[in-house]
Amino acid sequence: MLATHRIRTMRNEELWQSVLSEVELQVSRANFLTWLKNSRLIESNDEAIVIALPNHFAKEWVESKYDKLILGIVRNFIASVKKVEYTVEGGMSKPPAQRTRALVSEKQLSIEEFKVDPDTNLNPRYSLSSFVVGSSNELAYAAASAIIQSVGTKYNPLFIYGGVGLGKTHLIQGVGNEIKIFHKNKIKVKYVTSEKFTNDVVWAIRNKRTEDIKSAYRHIDVLIVDDIQFIGGKEKTEEEFFHTFNALYENNKQIIISSDRPPKSIPILEERLRSRFESGMIADVGFPDYETRVAIIKNKIQEKGASLNDECVDLIAKKISKSIREIEGILNKVVFYQNNYQKPVSIAHIEKIVSEIGEKDRININPNQIIKAVSSFFEISPSDLTGKSRNKEFIEPRQIAMYLLRDMLDMSYPYIANKIGKRDHTTVIYAYKKLNKDLDQNNSLTEKLNEIKELVNKMG
Ligand code: ADP
Ligand code: MG
Repeated sequence: MLATHRIRTMRNEELWQSVLSEVELQVSRANFLTWLKNSRLIESNDEAIVIALPNHFAKEWVESKYDKLILGIVRNFIASVKKVEYTVEGGMSKPPAQRTRALVSEKQLSIEEFKVDPDTNLNPRYSLSSFVVGSSNELAYAAASAIIQSVGTKYNPLFIYGGVGLGKTHLIQGVGNEIKIFHKNKIKVKYVTSEKFTNDVVWAIRNKRTEDIKSAYRHIDVLIVDDIQFIGGKEKTEEEFFHTFNALYENNKQIIISSDRPPKSIPILEERLRSRFESGMIADVGFPDYETRVAIIKNKIQEKGASLNDECVDLIAKKISKSIREIEGILNKVVFYQNNYQKPVSIAHIEKIVSEIGEKDRININPNQIIKAVSSFFEISPSDLTGKSRNKEFIEPRQIAMYLLRDMLDMSYPYIANKIGKRDHTTVIYAYKKLNKDLDQNNSLTEKLNEIKELVNKMG
């Protein structure tokens, strides 16, 4: 009885982790972290699964926005599932003051992925030993490794930048974990995302507790801030961060920062912060080359206690070159399949998984390329495409442009609405949903979109 229950629990955890790693590819990072990261799959059978969320707000949000997406992905794993139910798991929602204690109990409850150390916010899963080094990341890796022994004195700040899914979070958390081990916990390490930092600042301002932030952050020896680009334009947060930065820096405390682009390209970042970021060591992580991808795949497969033949490894490494996160998504599916059906996956199956995930070239394209490509495909001018005219001939091009801005670049609905004719964002949601549905039934639309996507890539 107990044993079956255990197997069930394992299966749920594994399934949900695999689903989440795909959801993560389809929603913006901020949304993923805010709404889905603390979710759990608590029950499953062939027909339905039950997802627990930490509070009512999250439950409603996920249910109304992501139900279709989640159901679609779940059905890739268990085709018979017809319904996803959502529930609130009381113990997980706690006001900020009790947060630390809540994390401890979450720790016992949840899957390994979420066993975040409540003191440091570091996830022990990220270690430097599991970080595969190749020409695309060796500088960043070397710089990160060098500060372990000389915290605060060697490269300060250390600024790591690079595209989505290329290992920044892994690397900076890995260094944090290594520092803790090397210095036997005598050094206080803290990892925050810039969203978390922003939330803290907003909370403190609202509750007139800015002094609390000052003392909380300034007692840290190593401050690691992930995705700093999000603070650009948030004046109070930038100011607070500037003071925190200076206080730490002047006391020879180590600061490690990641960003999706170099300091000079972060829009609306105050000059004084930009020059601080540029004063230390800046290193980038790029796209991994083929050999590195193979090494990463082999490494991950081993970590997951699975196996995969060289032909399959080669196929995945050849097909997915722009995001290690996507590689990981594929591997999760493969491992899930193998564990559940107790047989190795075939090369054809991998082809299918790869094509479903479909590599998104978000990194090198911008919204204007999409607008140019769509207008040239339909032979209308970009200003007509983005204009307000209600002429019928613009309807389809506009819907396609909206769809692609969302699909290829993960832009928010309001942003797209503003970009295309200053419409209401519900128009964009409608267009996106409609095209998604049409794509299922309409091959010529798929072809059209593929052609436009090729044009987008040529618009560079
Ligand atoms: P980023 O923060 O740059 O978006 P992540 O650090 O979240 O990317 O990496 C995405 C996934 O790829 C993670 O699961 C991470 O463990 C894995 N990964 C990235 N780079 C490497 C690497 N060099 N070696 C092993 N795993 C990696
Ligand atoms: Mg990251």
